[in-house]
Amino acid sequence: MRTIGVIGGSGLYEIEGLSAIERVRLDTPFGDPSDEYVVGRLGDARMVFLPRHGRGHRIAPHEINYRANLHGMKQLGVEWVISVSAVGSLREEIRPGDIVIVDQFFDRTKNRAATFFGDGVVGHVGFADPVCGALADVLHEVAEPLCAEKGARAHKGGTYVVMEGPQFSTRAESRIYRQWGADVIGMTNLPEAKLAREAELCYATVALSTDYDCWHEDEAAVSVAAVLEVIRKNVALARAIVKRAAERIPATSRTCACPRAAEFAIMTDRNAIPPAARERLQLLYGKYMGTP
Ligand SMILES: [Zn+2]
Repeated sequence: MRTIGVIGGSGLYEIEGLSAIERVRLDTPFGDPSDEYVVGRLGDARMVFLPRHGRGHRIAPHEINYRANLHGMKQLGVEWVISVSAVGSLREEIRPGDIVIVDQFFDRTKNRAATFFGDGVVGHVGFADPVCGALADVLHEVAEPLCAEKGARAHKGGTYVVMEGPQFSTRAESRIYRQWGADVIGMTNLPEAKLAREAELCYATVALSTDYDCWHEDEAAVSVAAVLEVIRKNVALARAIVKRAAERIPATSRTCACPRAAEFAIMTDRNAIPPAARERLQLLYGKYMGTP
C-alpha cells in the first residue's frame, strides 16, 4: 500500500475523512517533530499527516524542526510528501484564492538546519529540479477541475521565494522578487524540500495564494487578518486536492529519480565515517554507507 505524507501549513491542521486513525509521537536523531503524526487510511492509501506549525500554530517558520519532521515521515514509511502552504502572490494573474503547483524555489532563508549531512559525513544531492515532477503532475491534474468549480485557477509551475520571516516583506523586496521573475513568496518550503530530496522522498507543493504581498498598488499590504480570511475559504479546496491526489498516486513503486536521489551523494570515505554519524544516518543512508 502506498503511504502519502501531508505537511499542512497555515490553516490546515488536520485532514478530514481519515479512518483507523492513530496518533504517533516520534523521536528522531534530529530532535522533536512539530507535533504527533496522524496516521490513517484514506480510501486505499495510508496517510500520514503533520501540522507544520504544530496544533494551535505554536511554531514560527524559523523555529520549525524541518529535519525531524522529514525524518519522522521516513520512519513512518512515507514515500510521497504533499506540502500544503499559504503564499503571497507576486503576479497579477495569480489571484488570491488561486493555487500554484510550484516547480522552483529561491532560497532567502537564514540560519536554518538545512541538511542531514555534516558532523563527519559530507554529502551533496542534486536540487536543480527541486520538486518531484510526477507528484506535481498529479497535483495539477486534480487541482485544475477543483479550482474551476470555485472560480479559481490552478497554475502549473512557478518560482517560490522562501523568505526567513517572520515579518512580511518590505515593498522594495517584494518589487525586486518580481523583477527576478519569482511568482509566489512564503516562509517554509525550504529547507523542507531540500530535506525531502536528501531523504529520497517525492515532494511537491500545493501553494495557496492568499494575498498580493505588498507590491500591488491597488491592494492593501498583506496582513494576518486578510491571509486568514482567504485561507478559511481555501482550506476545503486544499483538502479536496489532497484527497483526490491520494487516489491518483500510483500504488506501484515510484518510477521518478527521487528514490535514488542520494545514491551517489556521499563523498566521505566509508572507512572515515564516525560511528555516531553512521548511527544517526542509518535510516536514511544505511544502504549507501556499507558496513564499517
Ligand atoms: Zn519523485
